[in-house]
Amino acid sequence: MRLRCPYCNGKTVITHHQVVDKRVSFAYVTCTNHECGARSKIRISYAGTITPPASDLYTAMHEWFANLPEDEQKKIARQYQPALF
Ligand SMILES: [Zn+2]
Repeated sequence: MRLRCPYCNGKTVITHHQVVDKRVSFAYVTCTNHECGARSKIRISYAGTITPPASDLYTAMHEWFANLPEDEQKKIARQYQPALF
């Protein structure tokens, strides 16, 4: 990921970063445009989940399946292991 200079839109290099918490960090950047040379502090924050971790999906699927009526569970299981049902 390339952070852009907020003054000239030039490329920057991250000189260091500070972790505020699990969802927010500050990146300290220096503009590589020699005519600008601005140094900036840019907040990087977590905005949301696109796809949850696989472990969460597996747990959610297990809970959903466990709460289905038994006949629905068998119907689904039959699709994956027809020889057993
Ligand atoms: Zn700049």
